[in-house]
Amino acid sequence: MQCPCGSNISFQQCCCLLINQETCAQSPEQLMRSRYSAYATEAADYIYQTYAQASRALQSIADISAWAKETKWLKLTINAASDYTELDDQNAVNADNEEQHLPTVCFSAYYQHQGEYFLMKETSRFVVEKGQWRYLDGEVSNNEALIAPKRNQACFCDSNKKFKQCCGR
Ligand SMILES: [Zn+2]
Ligand SMILES: [Zn+2]
Repeated sequence: MQCPCGSNISFQQCCCLLINQETCAQSPEQLMRSRYSAYATEAADYIYQTYAQASRALQSIADISAWAKETKWLKLTINAASDYTELDDQNAVNADNEEQHLPTVCFSAYYQHQGEYFLMKETSRFVVEKGQWRYLDGEVSNNEALIAPKRNQACFCDSNKKFKQCCGR
């Protein structure tokens, strides 16, 4: 299986390594991608664990799991990722740092929920805790319902594929 994050490499060689904790994310974007793939593969524990400590209080594995089960993730596009400090740098960003310096990743995600299609755009913020990248929070700038094309029409995700061969599969 191709990795859900859109890297064009296999899941086993990509986000699966992070989800199974064989390796850890080297950048906010990598963590973001792995969390997307964790949603796509219903790895609720990983999603929970990769929240920043302060954000975990607002989450439960049961809720994450329920949402992941009801949602089919179709496509991820990373639109922008801000500069970030390398993890091994002594100046690695911490949650106590001023919030405006936190690295961000802007992404678009297509998903299907209860039979309807949606496009969501979010800017996520990341922190380093105990030497690991963690997801702090995200601001959703857009979450719109999409009208599904006909099966032979172009997919709404700009893949240049027919809907039936892309998000409509
Ligand atoms: Zn991946
Ligand atoms: Zn598509």
